[in-house]
Amino acid sequence: MAQIPEIIHSKDISRWTDETDVIVVGMGIAGACAALEARRAGAEVLVIERASGGGGASALSSGIFYLGGGTAVQQAAGYEDTPGAMYDFLMANGVAPDAEIIRAFCDGCVEHFDWLEAQGVPFERSYFPGKAVFLTTTTCLMSTGNEKVWPYRDVAKPAPRGHKVAREGENAGSLAMGALLARCEEAGLQTRYDSQVTALVIDDTGRVTGVRYRRSGEEHHARARKGVILATGGYNMNREMLAEHMPHMLGNAEPLGMPYNDGAGILLGQSAGADTQSMSGVIATASFYPPSQLIKGILVNTRGERFVAEDSYHGRTASFIIEQPGHKAYLILDSEIFAYPELTDFSHHTLVDGWETVEEMEAGLQLPPGALQRTLAEYNRHAEKGEDPLLHKHPEWLKPLTAGPYAAFDVSFNKSVYLYITLGGLKTNARTEVVGIDGALIPGLYAAGACASSVSRDGRDYASGLSLGPGSFFGRVAGRLAATA
Ligand SMILES: Cc1cc2nc3c(=O)[nH]c(=O)nc-3n(C[C@H](O)[C@H](O)[C@H](O)COP(=O)(O)OP(=O)(O)OC[C@H]3O[C@@H](n4cnc5c(N)ncnc54)[C@H](O)[C@@H]3O)c2cc1C
Repeated sequence: MAQIPEIIHSKDISRWTDETDVIVVGMGIAGACAALEARRAGAEVLVIERASGGGGASALSSGIFYLGGGTAVQQAAGYEDTPGAMYDFLMANGVAPDAEIIRAFCDGCVEHFDWLEAQGVPFERSYFPGKAVFLTTTTCLMSTGNEKVWPYRDVAKPAPRGHKVAREGENAGSLAMGALLARCEEAGLQTRYDSQVTALVIDDTGRVTGVRYRRSGEEHHARARKGVILATGGYNMNREMLAEHMPHMLGNAEPLGMPYNDGAGILLGQSAGADTQSMSGVIATASFYPPSQLIKGILVNTRGERFVAEDSYHGRTASFIIEQPGHKAYLILDSEIFAYPELTDFSHHTLVDGWETVEEMEAGLQLPPGALQRTLAEYNRHAEKGEDPLLHKHPEWLKPLTAGPYAAFDVSFNKSVYLYITLGGLKTNARTEVVGIDGALIPGLYAAGACASSVSRDGRDYASGLSLGPGSFFGRVAGRLAATA
């Protein structure tokens, strides 16, 4: 089990190195947004960051923000999204959705998009209509979730909500962080870089009143008159925490993050009595598309059965693959739609083999006799009519798979390279106040970003952008609240 740090009592501190109103721990997107808003609300702000500069995993990211409700980009692309439609979708798609958190996010999204642009985070007025994992162009808007997947498309009118920062390449997050860090510098924050927060400080009433941090081998104490905001990112670099909450990721999958995403904020919160939530929640993904024609294939498990609509968001599909017997699955194609998966990072490009008939393919994949033949016959019978009564794949992706020869790719969890981000973290309310294991709020303590359990809590309900979108939004909420505490 990961070690929860000691808690320090303020009466035991003889000298504070720093005194300020609000302390922000971590300078990724949640921390930068928290610090900016706290400062603009009139608070003195000290940011303590373990790395030699701000950025965190946020600066490494693809720069997709999940935002909606009628942003300027959605309007320019001709989509009439509303906060209500976005809320209905996120609640229906959510595995353990928190109605208050989702309501606050959806209601505030349009203003938040405008705010990001006002800070200098650039978003083009452009739309990509296809199905992709990320874009390497400057094109902004794209469908990045399960909005068009059954049953969600019947619950809420689908709208594209992935907003990518206008930068070419895979690393658009660095442009967003560059803009936010520049605004932080202008705002006159105090910063301590190369400084690792190692403990929280509480007073006699249990209120969090500061932190201990280590810098150049020396320990310091920083006092926060109004509050401490934890924004240290996820825990996918902490092997002990992974072994406890998602042992199957160790050795099988690659963490997406930076070295200091080691769960420090979660453990610090726990030292003050905080509760955690959805700690086994993870988005682990290895998309078999693009090219999108592969979505017209079917995925089967070792029983030869389909188990997920193939047009699902790749993270949802991956979650279902991980749950199959032996974590195994095959992508079955016929000659009309055959292509190699384009994203070689995931190593799906290993073709198992090609076969003249379905019967031979079934034997070649060592599936139970008759199983794949039955599955395909059933699928093809309905696909001819543009229907999929079993899993409701959208008619756009349906075609009978009858044009031999046939081929299969092994897309099993332990055969491909799955990349993952942890989704669990400190339990907070919609105001980012940290909730204790006794259900009471911990005074003076706030959390935002990937160290808090937020809008998405499971790979089945994730959409690309549901880290940067809510992380930046709730970072701002935390900053404003702590400043006025
Ligand atoms: C390659 C890649 C692509 C991604 N693409 C996307 C995307 O397009 N859209 C999306 O929504 N998400 C994406 N993600 C995930 C997303 O980037 C992260 O979930 C998100 O940036 C987390 O933000 P954060 O502010 O919570 O944490 P971070 O940005 O990781 O910031 C946390 C900061 O806290 C600091 N810190 C940690 N511990 C301490 C300590 N004890 N004391 C002081 N400082 C500490 C760290 O050094 C770090 O700077 C991607 C991630 C990667 C790696």
